[in-house]
Amino acid sequence: VKEHGRNSVRQFIPEMGVTAISRLNMEGALRRGLDRGEFVLHYQAKIDLRSHKIIGAEALVRWQHPQIGLIHPIEFIPLAEETGLILPLGEWVLAEACRQQIAWQKLGLPALKLAINMSSRQFRQEDLSERVAAIFSATGAQPAHFILELTESMVMQDVESTLVTLRALKNLGVALSLDDFGTGYSSLSYLRKFPIDELKIDKSFINDIHENPDDAAIASAIVAMALSLGLQVVAEGVETKEQVELLLGMQCHQVQGYYFGRPMDANSFANRVQSSLAG
Ligand code: C2E
Ligand code: CA
Ligand code: CA
Ligand code: CA
Repeated sequence: VKEHGRNSVRQFIPEMGVTAISRLNMEGALRRGLDRGEFVLHYQAKIDLRSHKIIGAEALVRWQHPQIGLIHPIEFIPLAEETGLILPLGEWVLAEACRQQIAWQKLGLPALKLAINMSSRQFRQEDLSERVAAIFSATGAQPAHFILELTESMVMQDVESTLVTLRALKNLGVALSLDDFGTGYSSLSYLRKFPIDELKIDKSFINDIHENPDDAAIASAIVAMALSLGLQVVAEGVETKEQVELLLGMQCHQVQGYYFGRPMDANSFANRVQSSLAG
């Protein structure tokens, strides 16, 4: 399996035995993990398709469990979401990304825009924008260096209150992205009404883009729509050169995927950026 190797991500459930760890234990472990600082962020490059330059990164959370090793978000985000632990975890993610952004600037890296995933529970907090603002001011990070990723299902749930939240976030100076685009049910008319900056085409449309004409047509239509609405468009899950060439032909702005780099720890990512500048 591709995922295995040095950065092998071990699966929580199979390693422990499905019945060995109860939900309750898992919840307790998550809570302790937060208190003990067991979470880390990995960064995956976002690449400008014309210049092939790294222009930003998506922050992706992992759980560095002392016994189990590195645990993938798919193993703990759903429970964190259910239990509400996603709220403190989500705030930690943003604060950590802010600290990292500042550390990289001090190192002399070019200004990178960091993308942060928001969970639906976070997004529905009435005081979300105040909380986000508080994290920016506590860490000293600039909102303009961040892009918050939301999903279609999140924003389409209650469009009136969504609009209020999106405007409040935009007023802080952060950019907004619609993640996994194409997999949910966004009413296209809201794309115009919502103050969003970017669409991220879901990787399920990119996977077979070179051999499935329907997927290629969908990707191409999303790119064209984003361009005509003046939005940035990013393709995720790009693994091959053929995909890169097709997306370039469609005028897609940015790509993200294993072809250009896997998510990696902060130091490896900084080295990667520095060597790409030198090279
Ligand atoms: P996502 O936001 O759609 O993130 C993209 C996922 O695709 C990441 O998985 C990334 O490692 C993976 N990926 C990147 N390039 C490729 C590629 O070329 N091929 C393939 N097959 N996959 C690729 P990851 O890191 O396991 O994250 C999974 C999901 O967990 C994310 O999906 C996101 O929904 C959630 N997540 C991650 N970090 C956070 C976080 O800090 N907060 C919240 N709320 N959710 C998070
Ligand atoms: Ca994302
Ligand atoms: Ca995505
Ligand atoms: Ca996803």
